Amino acid sequence: MTPDDVLASLDPEQRAAASAVRGPVCILAGAGTGKTRTITHRAAYAVLTDAVPASALLAVTFTARAAGEMRTRLRELGIGGVQARTFHAAALRQLQYFWPRVVGGAPPRLVDNTFGMVANAAARARLRPGTNELRDLLSELEWAAASLYGPEDYVVAAQKAGRQPPFDAPVVAQVYDAYRDLKQAQGVADFSDLLLLTAGVLEEQGAVAEEFRSRYRSFVVDEYQDVTPLQQRLLDAWLGGRDDLCVVGDAHQTIYSFTGATPSYLLEFRQRFPAATEVRLVRDYRSTPQVVGLANDVITRSTMKAARLELVAQRPDGPAPVFAEHADEPAEAAAVAARCTELIAAGTSPSEIAVLYRVNAQSAGYEAALGDAGVPYLVRGGERFFDRKEVREALLLLRGAARAGDEDVPTGLGAATADVLRAGLKWSLASPPAGSGAARDAWESLAALHRLATDMETADASAGLRELVAELEERSAAQHAPTVDGVTLASLHAAKGLEWDAVFLVGLVDGTMPLVHADTPEQVEEERRLLYVGVTRAREHLRLSWALSRSPGGRGSRRPSRFLDGLHAGVSKASAPAAPKGAKASRSGPVACRICGAALLAAVERKLGRCPTCPSDRDEELYEALRTWRADRAKELGQPAYCVFTDATLAAIAEQKPADVSSLVKIPGIGQAKLDKFGDDVLGLVTAR
Ligand code: ATP
Ligand code: MG
Repeated sequence: MTPDDVLASLDPEQRAAASAVRGPVCILAGAGTGKTRTITHRAAYAVLTDAVPASALLAVTFTARAAGEMRTRLRELGIGGVQARTFHAAALRQLQYFWPRVVGGAPPRLVDNTFGMVANAAARARLRPGTNELRDLLSELEWAAASLYGPEDYVVAAQKAGRQPPFDAPVVAQVYDAYRDLKQAQGVADFSDLLLLTAGVLEEQGAVAEEFRSRYRSFVVDEYQDVTPLQQRLLDAWLGGRDDLCVVGDAHQTIYSFTGATPSYLLEFRQRFPAATEVRLVRDYRSTPQVVGLANDVITRSTMKAARLELVAQRPDGPAPVFAEHADEPAEAAAVAARCTELIAAGTSPSEIAVLYRVNAQSAGYEAALGDAGVPYLVRGGERFFDRKEVREALLLLRGAARAGDEDVPTGLGAATADVLRAGLKWSLASPPAGSGAARDAWESLAALHRLATDMETADASAGLRELVAELEERSAAQHAPTVDGVTLASLHAAKGLEWDAVFLVGLVDGTMPLVHADTPEQVEEERRLLYVGVTRAREHLRLSWALSRSPGGRGSRRPSRFLDGLHAGVSKASAPAAPKGAKASRSGPVACRICGAALLAAVERKLGRCPTCPSDRDEELYEALRTWRADRAKELGQPAYCVFTDATLAAIAEQKPADVSSLVKIPGIGQAKLDKFGDDVLGLVTAR
């Protein structure tokens, strides 16, 4: 492959980024705009033009899976020998290489499971945390280390960051201190230490730093919006004052702030490197205009200080996103399962479908519904419901209680179940743990069991623990069938960077999205970004749903996610009537459908100027004339056709036939620059008819 071939498969902005092979480069790229494609092509171009030898390039990504994918893509471009690794893998290799010479002997042993050590440290601070509290404690220590806070900084920093630790902050600080001592005494390191030690060696050992820097000259970081201060420190040590650094990120997809990640390095890149080449990618190659329109509508309301990025869809039209309201959660899950069955029957592979939710405990209802419908599925980044420790323990206890057939269990299956869970697992319906950590997840799982019990009781007042256990065993067995090609069930966090043909965003009620524990405006904004990440995973089919009650027969007092306010009323809602005339438009005042006069609320509809369900009155001849004109202009300018206008914009022009400049600019996608360049041509074509 020649360097020209490499650049030829990119659009102009991607090409600008890929051909800037030296010096600092910052790519501010929206979702689905081809970030990985751009940085792999940039690496290939740099190597093929001899700007940087392959062995001097280090590409860093956040997951081993992404790093592997990057290596594959580079190989496909004919480039071998570029290191693509996670921060941890890169640091580990470097430390193993340098340590024997700098310090002597082997580097500290890496402990990848620090559970036991944190438990010991907690015991020293006179705590006896349960498994989930321990997990949350561990997250706190990881957050502190990732943010470069020591035990002495923890109390103030945690308060400032609005953390919700499982114990009082001074107690957590004590555990942190004890944990540090323990590691030192045993001569071991955890993952955070690994990064810090590597940075330390490079910062302090001139000869090592020199050797390293003569080896690695150019650095690329993907998903830079989620870099932590600790990772940045290592990156700075790698650079050692040099500036051959290319970063790629999307501030609107920052969803790991709770682990210490911050988009500020991305957003302030230009301040740090004023001479940086800055490229913005906004063309979305992943999703249909309908999905992209909704994504833009969700993120446009973000109060984040990042520059607004309006994605421009490149794919042909697809179905409008569906918004569906259900009476209760089982009905919602059943509807999703039914829709999955339809998609699969129509030829979509189950592995091209995902059901995404906010918290892992939500998977239970979907595992059950998909199991009932005979749809294969797999749970990503979380355990299957019946594999979870607390669920297995609860089942054991319930089985024991059912067998004992105690006389003094409370009457009613719901109450009896609550009693067993309370006695054996200290679970209480009335007191969910604060925060959104592991303790909360476990509580939610048990709440799901309790819910099933109350549902069974509502259906049959005489049902007892024996029936509940039989039901649970049946469900558990049905869902244990091993699956390879299945529908993905994943939390929104675990879905980052991935894409599917069909995506179901479920449980979109206030309290779950945003999560009830999102207290500060910043936390609420992170929740909005999570929804944005969810929406932008879909290539074609997107369905957003919520249930007004948890259980059948509930009061129906929940409301759809506030992030959807003004977005769902007008879109083809599963079973709702069309939006009333005169309804408020979400952004730019009411716009009426040209055909039926109904108020248009969604961006996609506004672009069309009509309801998606109303017949199109597109002038086909004009549309064809516009396409021919566009092809000519694109050729003249040496640009791809969509750089002139997208298909969607041409379609809108051919439908709305703007007679003058003021009606032309009302068509979304036609800004001042396009008006200056192409306005006269377009108006000429329209008025010639
Ligand atoms: P995310 O923000 O979700 O991580 P991303 O910016 O990393 O997204 P990619 O996953 O690299 O985006 O690309 C999205 C899809 O668009 C991929 O299927 C990719 O192959 C395709 N794509 C990217 N650029 C182009 C292009 N210039 N021409 C055709 N297809 C492209
Ligand atoms: Mg990506």
